[in-house]
Amino acid sequence: TLIRREDYVAPVFWIRTVDLCFDLEPAKTLVTSKMRLERNAGVPHGPLRLHGEELNLLRVLIDGESVSFRQEGHELIIDNVPDADFNLEIRNTCAPEKNTALSGLYTSGGGFFTQCEAEGFRRITYFLDRPDVMAVYTVTLRADKARYPMLLSNGNLLETATLDNGRHLAKWHDPFPKPSYLFALVAADLVAREQRIRTRAGKDHLLQVYVRRGDLEKTEHAMNSLIASVVWDEARFKLPLDLERFMVVGVSDFNMGAMENKGLNIFNTAALLASPAISTDADFHRIESIVAHEYFHNWTGNRVTCRDWFQLSLKEGLTVFRDQEFSQDMAATPSARAVCRIQDVRALRAMQFPEDAGSMAHAVRPDQYVEINNFYTATVYNKGAEVVRMYQTLVGREGFAKGMSLYFERHDGQAVTCDDFAQAIADANPGSPLSTRLDTFRRWYSQAGTPRLQARGAYDADARTYTLTLSQANPATPGQDGKQPQVIPVALGLLSREGRPLPLTLQGEDGGTVATERVLVLDQAEQSFVFVDVAGEPVPSLLRGFSAPVVLDDGLGDAELLVLLKHDSDAFNRWEASQRLALARILGAVRSGEPLTLDAAYLDAMRAVLRHADLDPAFKALALQLPDEAYIAEQLTEVDPQAVHAAVAAAQEQLATALQADWAWAFETHQVSAGYSPDPVQSGKRALVNLSLAMLVLNATRGGDGVWPGRAYQRIKDATNMTDRLGALSALVNAHAELADSALARFHAQFKGEALVIDKWFAMQGRAAEQDGKTFARVKQLMKHADFTLKNPNRARSLIFSLCMFNPAAFHRADAAGYVFWAEQVLALDAINPQVAGRLARVMDRWTALAEPYRGAAREAIVRVAAKPDLSNDVREIVERALALD
Ligand code: ZN
Repeated sequence: TLIRREDYVAPVFWIRTVDLCFDLEPAKTLVTSKMRLERNAGVPHGPLRLHGEELNLLRVLIDGESVSFRQEGHELIIDNVPDADFNLEIRNTCAPEKNTALSGLYTSGGGFFTQCEAEGFRRITYFLDRPDVMAVYTVTLRADKARYPMLLSNGNLLETATLDNGRHLAKWHDPFPKPSYLFALVAADLVAREQRIRTRAGKDHLLQVYVRRGDLEKTEHAMNSLIASVVWDEARFKLPLDLERFMVVGVSDFNMGAMENKGLNIFNTAALLASPAISTDADFHRIESIVAHEYFHNWTGNRVTCRDWFQLSLKEGLTVFRDQEFSQDMAATPSARAVCRIQDVRALRAMQFPEDAGSMAHAVRPDQYVEINNFYTATVYNKGAEVVRMYQTLVGREGFAKGMSLYFERHDGQAVTCDDFAQAIADANPGSPLSTRLDTFRRWYSQAGTPRLQARGAYDADARTYTLTLSQANPATPGQDGKQPQVIPVALGLLSREGRPLPLTLQGEDGGTVATERVLVLDQAEQSFVFVDVAGEPVPSLLRGFSAPVVLDDGLGDAELLVLLKHDSDAFNRWEASQRLALARILGAVRSGEPLTLDAAYLDAMRAVLRHADLDPAFKALALQLPDEAYIAEQLTEVDPQAVHAAVAAAQEQLATALQADWAWAFETHQVSAGYSPDPVQSGKRALVNLSLAMLVLNATRGGDGVWPGRAYQRIKDATNMTDRLGALSALVNAHAELADSALARFHAQFKGEALVIDKWFAMQGRAAEQDGKTFARVKQLMKHADFTLKNPNRARSLIFSLCMFNPAAFHRADAAGYVFWAEQVLALDAINPQVAGRLARVMDRWTALAEPYRGAAREAIVRVAAKPDLSNDVREIVERALALD
C-alpha cells in the first residue's frame, strides 16, 4: 500500500517506557515486552493498532488482564482499550536464524545482531514502530554464556548475573527516550578495543569498538576516527557526547554501511575494519567518514529525530553534510579540502543526478512511498546534504552554527520535520538571504529533479560592464511537472583572459568592495547582474565549489575552459574545467558516431596538469581521470552504452599513449618511501602512481613499452600496502594483460582468509573494463566460485552490483544477456533479502533513455521480474515505477 506524507496523524497512544526481556536462542527467541502507554489527548480515541511481522504471538495483557485482539495483515489490533493510560504486556517469539533479510533480530557468524531502521523493530516484537513514538528502554538479555559472552544493548549497564544451565544475564538502561528504530542488541563472542576520554566539558567517557577476536588490530583507525569525531563535534557545533559509554560493533552480514543506534552503533565490518595490509586509502577515508557519520547522528537523528519517514533527510542530509564538513576539516590543507569536495560532487553526479532523471525521481522530502527502505537514496542523503550546504552558504558558517544551536534549543528530545529545521536556521539569521526567501528555498524539499542553470555573459567594452544573465528551468519528473523557480546560490569569480582575478562590484554598489569572489542568489526564472568597472572581457568562473546541486550550462568554449584549468583560484572549478574538456570530446564522438581523436590542445593541457610544479598529486589524479560513463550517459538524450564506452576507451588509450613519457615520469617521481599512512599527501601520491601505472600497462598492451605489465606484476608481490597492491592488480585486470590471471590467482591464495579482501577480488573482476565480452563471461564464471554467496550482502554486491551498477559496457549487451542475468539475480536475491534485491532492481531506473536494442530488451527483463507473484514490496515498487515510465 501507498503511504502518503499528507496522511500523517499522531498516534492514539504514546509509549513512554518499555521493559524488554530476551531469552536468546537462534531458532526461537522469546521476547517479553512490558510497556507503559499514555493516551494522546490530541487525537480521538480508537483501537490500539500495533505493528508486527513474522512473529509468533503468545499473550497480550492489559493492566495484568488478558484481552481479546485481532491480527490483520501486519497489525495486531486491540479494540477495547482504555481511553486512559495503561500497562500493556506482550509475549512473542521470533526466529533469528531464519532471518535472511537482516532486518530485525538475526544471527551472523554465530552471534545475534539487530537492525531496526526503518521498520525492523516490528520483526522483534509488536510495537508502535514509528519514529514519533519515543520511549525509555530497559533491556534484559539472557543467553548461553559460552557462545555469547558479550551481551550489549543501548545505554548503561545496570547489572550482570550468572544463571543456571550455563546461561547469563545482562540488564541495560538507556535514559534517553528514543524511537524503536534506534533500539539495538548484540549477543556474541566479541572483544573490544577501549579508550577512555575526557571531553572539553570535563566529563569522562568510555569508547569501545567490538569485533571478532582476530580483528582487534584492525580497529585502531576506527577508534581514532571516533575520537576525532567527538572532538570535532564539540569544537565545531558545541555538541558533546551525552553518554558515559559509547559502543561500536562490527558485523559481517549487514545491509548497508552502519547504523546509529543510541550508544550502540552497529557497523558493516567493511565500514569499520582497516589495516594497511587489507585496506586501501579510500577504505581508510570511507571508514573515517562513516564512523563520524554515525557518531554525528547522536545529535542529528537521535537527540532530535524525525516525526515520520518522509522527513528522513532531516537527519540524513544534515548528517551527511556534517560528515563531509568533518572530512574536509580533517584534510587540513586547502588542496586536500578541495579533493574531498570534488569526490563528493563526483559521487553526487554519478548517483543522484541519474536518480533525479529516472523512474525513482523523488524530492528530498518524498511525498509517498510503498517501502521506505527504497528511499534511503542518494537524493535523501547526498542531495539532502547539498541542501544543508546551501543554508550554510546563504547564512554563512557562523550563522549556520547559530541556527543549529537554535534547532537544538527548540527541539531537543523531539521528533520533528524538515520545516522545523528550515525555520530554526532562518530564525537564527533574520534578514539573511535565506530568511528573506524561506518559502522559495523550501522548494528544494518538495520539487524533484535537477535544476538546469543557464548563464550567459555580455561584455560592453565602452561601458566597461559585464552583464551576467542567469536563468533556471527544472525538468518534469514522474508526477511533477510545472515546477517553480528555486533558490540557487551561485558562488562566482571573474578572471581576466590572462587568468587574473578581477574585483567584483555590482552596479549600484559603491566601489569600495574589492572581493574577487561572491555569491549571487538566483530566485527567479531569470535575473541579470551587472558588474561595473570590468577592464576587459572576463572569463566567468561560476558555481564555485559546486555551490548548488544543479546542471550548469555556461556556454564556455575550449579557450575559456583552458584559462580556468590553468588559473582558477577555485580548485573545484579547475577540476571541472578538466572534466568539461574531456566531456566535450567524448560527447562529440558519441553524437557524431565518428571515432574519437584527441587533439593536441587537449593533450598538451593534460600534460601540463600532470607535469605541473605546484598542483597536488591527488588533484592531478582527479583531473586526469576521465568522467564516469554513467555521468557521460546523463548528458545524452538517447544512450548507447557501447558507444559511450568505446569513446571513453579510445580517450583512455590515446591519453595513455600520448603521455607515455609523462606517466612514466609521474610513476617514478611520486613513489612513497615513508611508512604507510592514509593521510592526504601519501594517498594523493599513491593515487597518481596507480593511475600512471594503469596508463602504462594499458599502453603496453596496445603496443607501447612492454616492460610495464611485468613491473606491475612484480609490484603486486612487493607491495607493502593494499592500495599499491590493488592498484597494480587492477592495472593488469583492466587492460586484460596476459599476466592478469596468474596475478588474480596469487592474490586470492594470499588473502583467502580475509573476507573483506576477497570482496575486493570479486569486485575488481566485476568492474574490469569490458573487452569482447570477457568481463561478462568472467562474472558468470565467478558466480559459481566456492567463495561466492548471495546470502552475504557484501559478497553479493561485490560481484553482481559491480557488474550491473558500475560496469555499463559489460552489462548493457546487444544480446541482452546482461539484463537476463540482472532479472535472475533480482529474483534470487528477493527470496533472501528484499532490501538488497530492491537496490539491485534500481539499476534499470534509466531504461527509457537507452537506445535500441537495449531499451526493448531492458523492458522485457523488467516485465519478467514484475510478473513474479509474491515479489517483496521493495522490488515491486521499483519495477512498477520503472514500467510506469513506458
Ligand atoms: Zn545516516
